Amino acid sequence: MTESTGQLGPNFIRNIIDEELAANKHDTVVTRFPPEPNGYLHIGHAKSICLNFGLAAHYGGRCHLRFDDTNPIKEEQEYIDAIKADLSWLGFDWGQHEYYASNYFETLYGYAERLVEKGLAYVCELTAEQIREYRGNLIEPGRPSPYRARPVEENLDLLRRMRAGEFPDGSHVLRAKIDMAAPNLNLRDPVLYRILHASHHRTGSDWCIYPMYDFAHGQSDSIEGITHSICTLEFEDHRPLYDWLCEAIGIYHPRQIEFARLNLTYTVMSKRRLLELVNEKHVSGWDDPRMPTLSGMRRRGFTPGAIRTFCDRIGVGKSDSVIDMSVLEDCVREELDTTAPRAMGVLRPLKVTITNYPEDQAEEFTVPRHPKNPDMGRRTIPFSREIYIERDDFMEEPPKKFFRLGPGREVRLRYGYIIRCDEVIKDPVSGEVIELRCSYDPETAGGKLPEGRKKVKGIIHWVSAAHGIPVEVRVYDRLFNVANPAGDKQCDYREHLNPESLGVLTDCLVEPGLVGAQPGEVFQFERLGYFCIDRDDTAHKRVFNRVVTLRDTWAKLSANNLNR
Ligand code: ATP
Ligand code: MG
Repeated sequence: MTESTGQLGPNFIRNIIDEELAANKHDTVVTRFPPEPNGYLHIGHAKSICLNFGLAAHYGGRCHLRFDDTNPIKEEQEYIDAIKADLSWLGFDWGQHEYYASNYFETLYGYAERLVEKGLAYVCELTAEQIREYRGNLIEPGRPSPYRARPVEENLDLLRRMRAGEFPDGSHVLRAKIDMAAPNLNLRDPVLYRILHASHHRTGSDWCIYPMYDFAHGQSDSIEGITHSICTLEFEDHRPLYDWLCEAIGIYHPRQIEFARLNLTYTVMSKRRLLELVNEKHVSGWDDPRMPTLSGMRRRGFTPGAIRTFCDRIGVGKSDSVIDMSVLEDCVREELDTTAPRAMGVLRPLKVTITNYPEDQAEEFTVPRHPKNPDMGRRTIPFSREIYIERDDFMEEPPKKFFRLGPGREVRLRYGYIIRCDEVIKDPVSGEVIELRCSYDPETAGGKLPEGRKKVKGIIHWVSAAHGIPVEVRVYDRLFNVANPAGDKQCDYREHLNPESLGVLTDCLVEPGLVGAQPGEVFQFERLGYFCIDRDDTAHKRVFNRVVTLRDTWAKLSANNLNR
């Protein structure tokens, strides 16, 4: 696998553009990323962003950010702000090129009148249901609306009165006059404008008719001089309409190219469903670290570089596929392995008393922040008579291959001494192991092994009890417990929510060197994984999110194993 380049690899769209440039069809490449501001961006959008901005960068062109804000009911300023923040975080810069379809409402309306004047659009008074009924289906041709033959003058008058607010919602629509027998249903006189007496977050009450997606999208592309309008495969069937509208209106005609959308296992990616998860409080918000949103991933500790690498790696093609979540997690691991400083943290502490270590003594080990990168410098970790180790690193009756602590066994403390477990203390009531009493070998500090001494196989992490900082650690598992939660026709995707997707560990301890670390900083807790300081973190309550484990052990372990 290659390093993160943040660059777009070769793909079929590049081949198309190369050919066009060779034939002098364009002298520059202009693309756009066109989110509808009705939700937060998710990892699927990242694929589209990397592609559109990547093409612009590759050809020295530009990429516009255009808000496709033609539906006043579902759109809000909050989403616009969040989308811009996510795009910047991901590392893309649209410069001056921030546009809104709503800024073109007057121009689009002008196009509508032009179509009417050319006899290519008419005002229809069928209800939405009747329109559907008249449209026919894949086997049967549609029937013409009784309003289809209205004279131009009457259409123009009605359209103007629609705009002036004379009619209630749903009473009239403007439709293109194309072909009610067309094999492609999108060409059977599609609706271009509808009446909606609703206030728009940008244009207020200026309008009570709003263009449909198909009438706004391609026309906005045209107005902005987009050369390549890149969208996902489900719009392939809309391309004939895209082309027809540009030609019928008589405006510059960009080329629409479709690619396969990104699907990921164990999550959902439609904004409608993500909004439901938020509204119904199945998650804590759009930026819940279990969400496939960019804001969720950012909060969890995923890096923009890892997401860009992921988008490079999955490539751009024409056939739909589902990518395993572990591919994304591997990209995150690879990047954090080189960038995250190391630290020691204990998630489920078990007390260890070093009986032969003086009570009033403490010492410090000076160790690297990163084993492979000396430039990161060194850190000191305090050691004292009482330490905590991971509960999992002790077994009362260890099997043969268990090289960590057990009664009478020896283990090395990472960067410290070899200790031996002499005594196991249990809670008299519950029988639970509550403390280990161990002795240390003073000759073995910092990895030393005196001549003739038997080697110890296991190395475990630890934190000094007196010095460690108490923290909360949130560990995340898949949000859903089936690979394709939305693909089950028998039951609602919410039935597949994983009840164990969030684990909160409240008794954790981390080494004191992390005292000044800030929200967003990521560390590798040795032997455990990568952990990021959450934005809920305060001086009173320190909170870490587990970004990812060190290896992809998920597939092998049960969903409720929180520790690895
Ligand atoms: P919805 O989830 O409601 O269908 P959407 O995902 O299409 O909405 P938009 O805001 O319209 O949301 O998307 C903006 C751009 O991102 C579009 O060009 C769309 O094709 C692209 N996009 C959306 N989802 C994906 C995905 N899963 N993979 C690749 N591109 C995507
Ligand atoms: Mg869309």
